[in-house]
Amino acid sequence: MGDIAGKRVLVREDLNVPMVDGAVSDDTRLRATVPTVAELADRGAIVLVLAHFGRPKVPSAEFSLSQVTSAYADVLGRPVHYVDWEGDAAAVAKLAPGDIAVLENTRFFGGEEKNDPAIVARFAALGDFYVNDAFSAAHRAHASTEGLAHVLPSFAGRAMEAELDALEKALGKPEHPVAAVVGGAKVSSKLDVLTHLVDKVDHLIIGGGMANTFLAARGVDVGKSLCEHDLIATVEGIFTAAERANCTIHLPYDVVVAKEFRANPPVRTVNVHEVAADEMILDIGPAATEALADVLKTCRTLVWNGPLGAFETPPFDTATIALAWTAAALTQSGSLVSVAGGGDTVAALNQAGVAEDFTFVSTAGGAFLEWMEGKTLPGVAALLHG
Ligand code: ADP
Ligand code: MG
Repeated sequence: MGDIAGKRVLVREDLNVPMVDGAVSDDTRLRATVPTVAELADRGAIVLVLAHFGRPKVPSAEFSLSQVTSAYADVLGRPVHYVDWEGDAAAVAKLAPGDIAVLENTRFFGGEEKNDPAIVARFAALGDFYVNDAFSAAHRAHASTEGLAHVLPSFAGRAMEAELDALEKALGKPEHPVAAVVGGAKVSSKLDVLTHLVDKVDHLIIGGGMANTFLAARGVDVGKSLCEHDLIATVEGIFTAAERANCTIHLPYDVVVAKEFRANPPVRTVNVHEVAADEMILDIGPAATEALADVLKTCRTLVWNGPLGAFETPPFDTATIALAWTAAALTQSGSLVSVAGGGDTVAALNQAGVAEDFTFVSTAGGAFLEWMEGKTLPGVAALLHG
């Protein structure tokens, strides 16, 4: 970027934080912006943070980013100005080098989500440079996430850089063997992920509710388990594609079942062929978990999306936590590059206390999944190729 002292830098960040009673209840996303925003301010730039907040239909106080500025100032440890969309050019002109300002919700303009050139131009007029630091919004071609990269000299922020670097190591040019863990509730929500991964990875480990559909496709009676019987033909197609691509699909051979879905009900650990008609599979079993740990020990790279069981409800977090510990230990000993993402996956890894021990944990929900589907993210493409 060269010398940016006194230059106005528009920085797209993710400030879409959860609020409870008008206060920021989780500042994880704010903290993720600090390396980029602090560095730019320290280099003497006038830092103009662009972000959306919620899904406003019309501009309203409920969706105003003025609500996050004080929490943001706390996180940054410096003052944060707030700039409304009325008189914004004049307000920006008064800022001094090193100042940081949050511009009002980009979605207060209908043209933001339409990537309207007029709105792109309106934003662009405020800055000399554009920095995109919001990987989590990069799957959307909006004015502030994509359009700006075509009209201003553009750069990736530090968080964006770290995310792209980790994702490249995990699936772009990974060291083989590569294992993918795909879990979660349903096959239907991750079909494109599964289809893409069979061509990319050496081991595809299926857990969670979606494993039931795979087991059913293999002729297992899964009782009352969550199972998408209408997708059995689709799953057979995934088996065929995996075989062609030399990808080994790992299904559990033992499972933890219960008759009721609640915390700590009576449970049985059984072979998958012993599930009774009135039982539900809610976690994979200890033998399967141990076998998967052995698979990970042979791998150099792991990408993980989706818990192996209904982890919110004990004891069905057991397999997810055990395998997360294995992956964390292998990462710490230097034998595995581990990248994980997905809302519930991040929650599960936090529950296991190992999020810090993975190589990289992505908090970008939709963007992370689209990346796992092999899609080109418009915000990233615009940044890299103008
Ligand atoms: P992510 O948010 O990380 O992408 P998903 O949303 O796909 O993950 O999946 C998480 C959900 O899957 C959790 O709510 C979990 O309870 C559920 N789940 C996992 N295993 C099972 C199972 N065997 N039966 C029912 N639900 C399950
Ligand atoms: Mg989820």
